[in-house]
Amino acid sequence: MESPGASTRRARWLGAGCLAALVACSAPADSLVACSAPGESPDVEPGVLVITADRVFDGRGGVLEERGVVVHEGRISAVLPLADLPDAAPRLDFPGGSILPGFVDTHVHLDWHFGEDGRLARGAPPEQSALHAVENGIRMLEAGFTTIQSLGSPVDGPVRDIIARGVVPGPRIITSLGSLSARTGGPDAMRAEVERLANRGADAIKIFASESSRDGGGPTLSQEQLDAACGAARERGLRTLVHAHGPVSASRAAEAGCTTIEHGSLLDQATLDLLAERGLFFDPNTYLIVANYLEQKERYLGIGNYTEEGFALMEANIEGRMEVFRNGLATAELRVVFGTDAVAGAHGQNIREAFARVEQGGQAPEDLIVALTSLAAESLELEDEIGTVAEGYVSDLVVVEGDPAADVRALGEVRLVVRDGRLHWLRDPGS
Ligand SMILES: [Zn+2]
Repeated sequence: MESPGASTRRARWLGAGCLAALVACSAPADSLVACSAPGESPDVEPGVLVITADRVFDGRGGVLEERGVVVHEGRISAVLPLADLPDAAPRLDFPGGSILPGFVDTHVHLDWHFGEDGRLARGAPPEQSALHAVENGIRMLEAGFTTIQSLGSPVDGPVRDIIARGVVPGPRIITSLGSLSARTGGPDAMRAEVERLANRGADAIKIFASESSRDGGGPTLSQEQLDAACGAARERGLRTLVHAHGPVSASRAAEAGCTTIEHGSLLDQATLDLLAERGLFFDPNTYLIVANYLEQKERYLGIGNYTEEGFALMEANIEGRMEVFRNGLATAELRVVFGTDAVAGAHGQNIREAFARVEQGGQAPEDLIVALTSLAAESLELEDEIGTVAEGYVSDLVVVEGDPAADVRALGEVRLVVRDGRLHWLRDPGS
């Protein structure tokens, strides 16, 4: 049901904007305004769409006032002052809003979901997991996340490939398809497993080098095992994402030349310095993971290591995680990226991690936006394609209401998501 003022607000929000018929959209039909057909004007090429807002965050720390982003066939063809925009192009205006690069979450678990009994579904049939992965992907896309890295499950592969075909909406998916751990075996078995996953189409290699935080987070892999795993991945051109909570496991991963430390919830300053010195990325999952577990506790409790003791360990280190995050930000040259470790219940709420990093962790909103976009893209080796609003980049864009540099909560006020040039979602701000 619309409130009486909704259509007025929509008109104000969209201004005289038009939507090109080229744009595929999963939004409710009544939230779209269609005007000129593509190719109607001889001055404008078919497939061009202009999006304007009060400001454009370029994803690299720059803010451009009063600009329009020109999208053409999946790429950003220009970012121009309002006066220089092509007059006849279909156009969406967002007065009061901000345009940003599509958000990137470098650590999610795409297929985790609750079963029909409302509890964490472990060992669900793959077809069920795949469909939940699609649903989780849509939830994250609608929250502005146009790229996610899933660490990772076999069903991620077909979900990734189906979404990449461009019919089923979803974020760009990068996946490890599985993981290596102490159970994998010695160095030779590590190398063999990297080969197996690489041959099956893994985009990166996930390695468990420490216990879970619910089991204390101690090291579980030797230096030789990590050398073998990260070395074999490097030979295949694959990045390595190492689950490491404590200093020993993270230091071994740094020595082994791995790419990114995930979690690091117990890291000390010496280890943070080592990560910086060796050029590793640090992906602290600072807030959402534990907040979601505590909010959804009854749906996890009693399954695997989701015990009362495990929850107590996580709860006891909430401030410790935030402190490691703050120390990470203060560590010279350390690249701290945006990842949430979103599991069942957290998909689509990823941006709450951003709120906490700014409001509790003290990160400047401008720096948070860089970590969420271009820096996260760099950690995925996609910095030339995504994470930046500039000519030539893939047109992955998010429009939010308000100014996230003034109030980070604006990042949760998503109005439009463009993924690879396709407009996927547009919500009436009055609804
Ligand atoms: Zn994880």
